[in-house]
Amino acid sequence: MLRWVPVLALLLGMVAGPAAAASASAWDIKKVNGDDYVSADNIKQFYHFASLTRSGSTVTLENATVLMKLNVGSTDCSMNNVKFVFSKSVEEIDSKAYVSRTDLAKLIDPVLRPRFIKNAGSFNTVVLDPGHGGKDPGATNPYGTEAEYNLKIATLVKAKLVTMGYKVIMTRDSDRFLSLQERVNVANAVTENAIFIAIHFNSGGTGARGIETFTLSPPGVAHYGRGLVEADKIERAGNEHDSANMALATSAHGSVLRALGTNTLDRGIKRARYTVLSGITHPAILLEGGFLSHPYEARLIHNEKYQAALAGGIAAAVTRYRKAVTPQPEAPAKP
Ligand SMILES: [Zn+2]
Repeated sequence: MLRWVPVLALLLGMVAGPAAAASASAWDIKKVNGDDYVSADNIKQFYHFASLTRSGSTVTLENATVLMKLNVGSTDCSMNNVKFVFSKSVEEIDSKAYVSRTDLAKLIDPVLRPRFIKNAGSFNTVVLDPGHGGKDPGATNPYGTEAEYNLKIATLVKAKLVTMGYKVIMTRDSDRFLSLQERVNVANAVTENAIFIAIHFNSGGTGARGIETFTLSPPGVAHYGRGLVEADKIERAGNEHDSANMALATSAHGSVLRALGTNTLDRGIKRARYTVLSGITHPAILLEGGFLSHPYEARLIHNEKYQAALAGGIAAAVTRYRKAVTPQPEAPAKP
């Protein structure tokens, strides 16, 4: 795929050019069910997309570095072939597409302008959290347990990161049980700047496959697949890093997709309120590296080549993310 490489190198890398030059113009804001929505035309103008075209329900925005596809009536969005799941559907008003302000501010903006995320780049410590363990095996199949696979991948990621010069802290480095809160406590005991990556594998029927990455739902956004509840409106510890969370997820998700190859199904970057994401005081993501319940993917996950590719993708994403969110000396102030 032609776009694949610039894409991922990019999604996070490109910003200095067109985005830094983004100009503040009058925003065309409409209310839908009480929420603010911004027109795709506004997005085109602000982020300096060269074109905006529409075919059926698909709206395409494009410039030299970014290809963004929105779908009217849907929460599916793609940027440079990486799938994102919006918090709210794209709406149509007077024949024009509108994106919720939440998705613009909490998703599109950090992906397109990572260098504007405050205080995100200055870290050298990575907390890796292999999910489950001990009395909790997580998902299982005839080849092994999720707890084992999670630990194996995290151990491989750690080795790579240490070689790259990072300090790595594991929430567990053996097959032992830790509560979700204990994992949060390990991460939050790290006083220096750090990022947190939870590693899991999925299960759910023999048909489901692919990878997905979760970040904490911003305030007012539901847990994936569940309706909004009152508690979702409350700001959590992790919400202070909403923008960094999204940038980290984009880097990790894109990097892992690229490492695993084009046969891997991209299930997208999604929002969730998992305990490990909502209590963490560092930028945090939870990555699901495939389905143990899928007959073919189960064998892939058991294969050392797949494990090495997945771990390599995660490790590479850390540096990609750090580079993307580190302000460049010449970067102008936010308009
Ligand atoms: Zn799990």
